Amino acid sequence: MNSEARTDVVEPVLRIVPREQHAVSRKNISKAALRVLYRLHEAGYEAFLVGGAVRDLLLGEHPKDFDVATSATPDEVKKLFRNCRLIGRRFRLAHVVFGGEIVEVATLRGTGEEGEEGEGDRRIVDGRIVRDNVWGTIEEDVVRRDFRVNALYYDIADFSVRDYVGGMQDLEERVLRLIGDPATRYREDPVRMLRAVRLAAKLGFRIDAAAAAPFEELGPLLTEAAPARLFDESLKMFFAGHGLKSFRMLEQCGLLKFMFPATARALKRGDAALRSLIEQGLANTDARVAEGKSVTPAFLFAVLLWGEVRDLAHAWLAKGADLNEAWLRAAARVVGEQCERVAIPRRFTLAMEEIWALQPRFEQIQRKRVFRLMAHPRFRAAFDFLLLRAAESPAIRELGEWWAHAQQLPQEVLAAALPAGGGGALAESVPAATVGAPPRKRRRRRRPSGKSGSA
Ligand code: ATP
Ligand code: MG
Repeated sequence: MNSEARTDVVEPVLRIVPREQHAVSRKNISKAALRVLYRLHEAGYEAFLVGGAVRDLLLGEHPKDFDVATSATPDEVKKLFRNCRLIGRRFRLAHVVFGGEIVEVATLRGTGEEGEEGEGDRRIVDGRIVRDNVWGTIEEDVVRRDFRVNALYYDIADFSVRDYVGGMQDLEERVLRLIGDPATRYREDPVRMLRAVRLAAKLGFRIDAAAAAPFEELGPLLTEAAPARLFDESLKMFFAGHGLKSFRMLEQCGLLKFMFPATARALKRGDAALRSLIEQGLANTDARVAEGKSVTPAFLFAVLLWGEVRDLAHAWLAKGADLNEAWLRAAARVVGEQCERVAIPRRFTLAMEEIWALQPRFEQIQRKRVFRLMAHPRFRAAFDFLLLRAAESPAIRELGEWWAHAQQLPQEVLAAALPAGGGGALAESVPAATVGAPPRKRRRRRRPSGKSGSA
């Protein structure tokens, strides 16, 4: 190891904050986490609540999960709990399951620089941590954590909070500071840059200047991060109630282009309608999360990538491709590129492709096609998407209104009002095609062959 060369090694200095001087109460810790903590403690191991849970409790928030750190090794943890699974290779830990809740139990990590301890190993390749399984003491564990506010330990032995690196001070100042030299910490794990953005958005904290300074230079390292991990991180960013804020910060910090290159490109072109569509999509998702409603990643990812898909489809149409082909090709290209960065699972990309491909069909106001579209399993999402696109043009807004109205009508009334093969009073009130470019040409091409449109 190159420990001598490092000037950034942090010397932890313990400050114990006794129970009566902090806000972490067992009342607010989940039963499952408390049981895990007590059982570890009774078995003679050190046991702490750590990370985001302590941070959030000190801020008076409800943690979304409770992580435990202990001096027990994963195997020892497994022996103590019947309902325990060991997981992870890069970072081995135990999952203890209690009544549907999972408590993550991690063994205190060491740096491994003083020879191999325990059963694990720690490996660093090009400054990047690729394996992190050397057990250690709390003093060693603390300096491996990312932000000072994430390095507070609630000790079940005496209910005190242990602060080794100034986390309490940062909580008061509402700032995210990295432990150690920021560039080194980002090189070890570039995803920490995204965590900075996400936590700042979630907590309403600012990112310390020193922690933000390396973003420009080191942002490109994100392209080497595992796409599956970036997918997980993107879920935490956009589906935890603070998506809009995360997105704006991601863009401001210059990191959006490494996660969602197509989105960053489309926005850079200065498309105000697209920006408003994306921001509205994120705000709607945040509102649904706040109301405890379900959210589907497919919809929001479809929103994020829409600008590029639409423009590519238009380009194919202009080259003479038929409607289906243009949209399929555009979707395949955009999804393909995106998944190299953020591994969106197939079930979501399929749904995204359907939402996109259904957009031009909203313009086909003929009896059979209208009913066929309404019966499509993805109609609801595609219609919501159309409504979101209202910002694109007055014509799209009117189209959205037409479909909203059409769904209110009894079937017979709607059927009677619709032309069998295009034209007719109701259809004429519908705005001209606006999805395919150029619209009028596309209509002419499509009609006589009658083969494009719904499958
Ligand atoms: P959230 O509120 O999203 O759960 P969190 O800080 O708890 O935020 P987790 O991913 O649950 O995030 O991680 C728990 C703790 O593990 C963190 O608080 C931090 O101490 C440590 N940690 C997580 N990821 C990293 C990382 N990439 N580098 C260093 N420490 C990390
Ligand atoms: Mg957490």
